[in-house]
Amino acid sequence: MNSAEFRKKYFPNVLDEDWNDWKWQMRNRVTSYDQLSKIFDLTDSEKQALTMDNAFPVAITPYYLSVAIDCSSVRRTILPNPQEHNIYPGETNDPLGEEPAMKVPGLVHRYPDRVLFLTTEYCSTYCRYCTRSRLVGRNSVKPSTCMSKKQRWEEAFKYIRDHKEIRDVLVSGGDPLTMDDESIDYLLSNLRKIEHVEMIRIGSKTPVVLPQRFTPNLLNIIKKYHPVYFSLHFTHPSELTPETNKACNMIADAGIIMGSQTVLLRNVNDDAKTLKQLMHKLLLVRCRPYYLFQCDPIEGSAHFRVKVEDGLKIIDELRGYTSGYAIPTYAIDIPGGGGKIVLTPNHVIGKDGDFLKLRNFEGKEYLYPDYITEV
Ligand SMILES: *Cc1c(COP(=O)(O)O)cnc(C)c1O
Repeated sequence: MNSAEFRKKYFPNVLDEDWNDWKWQMRNRVTSYDQLSKIFDLTDSEKQALTMDNAFPVAITPYYLSVAIDCSSVRRTILPNPQEHNIYPGETNDPLGEEPAMKVPGLVHRYPDRVLFLTTEYCSTYCRYCTRSRLVGRNSVKPSTCMSKKQRWEEAFKYIRDHKEIRDVLVSGGDPLTMDDESIDYLLSNLRKIEHVEMIRIGSKTPVVLPQRFTPNLLNIIKKYHPVYFSLHFTHPSELTPETNKACNMIADAGIIMGSQTVLLRNVNDDAKTLKQLMHKLLLVRCRPYYLFQCDPIEGSAHFRVKVEDGLKIIDELRGYTSGYAIPTYAIDIPGGGGKIVLTPNHVIGKDGDFLKLRNFEGKEYLYPDYITEV
């Protein structure tokens, strides 16, 4: 079922201009059991999860429901599962240790030259495995976010201004592109005023769950502050709909460089065939696969996690079999604030005198002369 058929069936009286309006999509997010039970033939476990007192609420844009309706993998990422209530060893509510690493509220300065700037707590659609579910979609406002947004931002701008070593600002949240045009303009213009800030990145899932957001006006605003990069969150090939493809092409035409950060998720995208299809579809719309992440050990996410051993096998099934451009860097963001580390299958298998023994993508062995001579 494409989005037109979905609309006809479940939102029959909605005008084109409303459906294509991102604010309508946000206002009409589906959040309740009653609404969801009219759209999905809910399984017993989904029914159970939806009627439990969920720590993390449900919200899905009508548009993204049209993607999930025929795709059980996407559905699994947005409908709750009773297993979310089971907490296993090593799981925490702040797996990346971001709270202790905040220099001012909402600003994580972990690496020498770049910062993560959490600008908003809002998302249009909630991913069940959200690493920041402690912040996103909560009713309770944490003390650190009680200040008005602008006031909090001023402190972050000041911190960045005062730290000349920061050359890269990663704007994330929540999803920054759910803010209105004026707020985005204000945010980017303030960052661009800081001379030592070379690149600005925006982390977002908006092209996937709310492609209507990419109006010419928004893109004209962002274009003023180049170089701007987008780190987008894609999960499954079925997300590359005509609407999302169009949004990505508009973004690329505006000169914004897109990378995709995909989370490796059990029974969602944990096979080489699905991932290869996703990466190929991303390259078609000029989005370069950037990271493939192990799922962070957020509380209640065990049913989503894949063993690293299996993730490495998947990478081995990609390397050599598709363009290097289609292969993301497989990584873990280490729990407790260790930062990101890269995981790679081992291709250096030993030494033979001055020669290095290497294994290629077909499993064949080769030798590389690994010595230096005096000059
Ligand atoms: C992921 C992350 C970054 C960006 O890392 P890159 O490898 O440069 O994409 C920066 N700061 C924090 C705190 C992060 O978690």
